[in-house]
Amino acid sequence: MRQSQLFMPTLREVPADADVKSHQLLLRAGFIRQNAAGIYSFLPLGKKVLHKIENIVREEMNRAGSQEMMMPALQLAELWHESGRWYSYGPELMRLKDRHDRDFALGATHEEVITSIIRDEVKSYKKLPLNLYQIQTKFRDEKRPRFGLLRGREFIMKDAYSFHDKQESLDETYETMKDAYSAIFSRCGLNFRAVLADSGAIGGKDNHEFMVLSEIGEDLIAYSTESDFAANIEMAPVVLKEEASSESPLELEKVETQTAKNIDDVSVFLNVPASKIIKSLLYMADGEPVLVLVRGDHEVNEIKLKNELSASEIVMASEEDAVKWLNTKPGSIGPVSVSDVKVIADQAVPLMANAVCGANEEGYHFVNVNADRDFKIDQTADLRFVVEGDLSPDGKGTIIFAKGIEVGHVFKLGKVYSEPMKAQYLDENGKNQIMSMGCYGIGVSRTLAAVAEENNDENGLIWPLSLTPFEVHLIAVNSKNAEQSALSDELYEQLKSEGYDCLYDDRPERAGVKFTDSDLIGLPIRVMVGKKAGEGIVEVKIRKSGESYEVPVSELKSVLK
Ligand code: ATP
Ligand code: MG
Ligand code: MG
Ligand code: MG
Repeated sequence: MRQSQLFMPTLREVPADADVKSHQLLLRAGFIRQNAAGIYSFLPLGKKVLHKIENIVREEMNRAGSQEMMMPALQLAELWHESGRWYSYGPELMRLKDRHDRDFALGATHEEVITSIIRDEVKSYKKLPLNLYQIQTKFRDEKRPRFGLLRGREFIMKDAYSFHDKQESLDETYETMKDAYSAIFSRCGLNFRAVLADSGAIGGKDNHEFMVLSEIGEDLIAYSTESDFAANIEMAPVVLKEEASSESPLELEKVETQTAKNIDDVSVFLNVPASKIIKSLLYMADGEPVLVLVRGDHEVNEIKLKNELSASEIVMASEEDAVKWLNTKPGSIGPVSVSDVKVIADQAVPLMANAVCGANEEGYHFVNVNADRDFKIDQTADLRFVVEGDLSPDGKGTIIFAKGIEVGHVFKLGKVYSEPMKAQYLDENGKNQIMSMGCYGIGVSRTLAAVAEENNDENGLIWPLSLTPFEVHLIAVNSKNAEQSALSDELYEQLKSEGYDCLYDDRPERAGVKFTDSDLIGLPIRVMVGKKAGEGIVEVKIRKSGESYEVPVSELKSVLK
């Protein structure tokens, strides 16, 4: 491509509202332009990088046995009613009506759509497992769109969904997808960790996030210096501790001497939202449903909590409803009465109060709660007992805290969607069963920004070879010089015929301008045709290291390799 023809509007000044390096540089180097808050256009250079990331994702997904498809961005509200997410997803879901006054959502994610397709088309265990993916625009009305492509309101995601008859089959696909994700982010040249994570609004059980280690990351993670242990500490007492150090400190003394009667009491004592306390409980329950007794204004509390939490794992109930729930729960210990429930509830609350109030001054351990005595925890999954410098839960290495950018997320959804949406199949014995599901997302446009964020210097971007918009930047140092111009033209044709994707700066600009632009857009290798053109010598410069060499044209091919 001749640079004189390329649409690459560069900016000399740092745009005022761009607060992180990647956002500034992608704007300045002419890769993207903002259209509205959190909404961007990809200009030709940006689109080329996006395309390369998508192709890496495609190759690895196909290799992992996933099949590409494409689903609509416009989704019928009915589907979201079926899953129960029309209300629980909250204002992040963009909603609209058609001319017949029917409600639609702009796809924030596609569990509902894919589940409805599979339940209609797949009826037998013989057709399972299935693994399908798409690369597509997603819409989320983020409260705080920021950092450019990192948190957009319209962004590109690769989302995959798998369907299974057996748990082992889901477990197997989950591992395959984790491996594919590692391959994808390695090929993008990112320094990342796969971390254990909270299941958030999607619901479900096992899940890992892929976190790029970055100073500007919005998540806090902890990982071992020596083993693979790594976890997101979204729900760790570190968060409580931050709150404790704000204007209203946690009053631990008070908690220990008062009797909490319900979650709201604990919430007031700790100055922590009830939702956070329930989240801690959910975490301890390790995927088991948690019964939340809602006293007082039942309706209001229920709606409030359901909106804040992943409703799928919680059963909201009055004492009477709780009795019904406990008695019908599979594996229940036997009939319970309202008075039993009252006893359970009263015992449960002080335990919970202890469990959540342990953000003491010295560290992040819970006080007065003995993990093995008071409740069971999964040692490998639980981080709330880890302090910096502590041994990793697996005994290998010590723990380091770091900030991370979530570029990918894999989930074992289990039956969270297939059950309410009735995705069923006939097993070997002709019996109706509910499918198990997994879902797997990658922020494709966020990955682009994460790569830019982690690969730059004071002069501009530095693309890894796997993602660079062009491989070689050929520069005619002085295009007005006939000798330089002729050799440059010749090399351009030669590089193209050898299969290089080459950007050729043929513009009649000063050398300084060309070099500044070249550093800014950050192609890995620069070939400069300058004063020694007459002797058949060019200068090759490596963007990343800054090293440069004089190379006879005849040897250029072997140097570029
Ligand atoms: P976050 O915690 O950053 O809000 P999420 O957990 O809500 O992300 P998922 O539902 O797990 O996101 O979606 C899968 C992937 O899509 C994420 O891992 C991330 O890489 C990407 N993603 C999510 N939200 C955005 C966004 N607003 N802009 C760009 N990419 C996003
Ligand atoms: Mg989100
Ligand atoms: Mg997240
Ligand atoms: Mg996520």
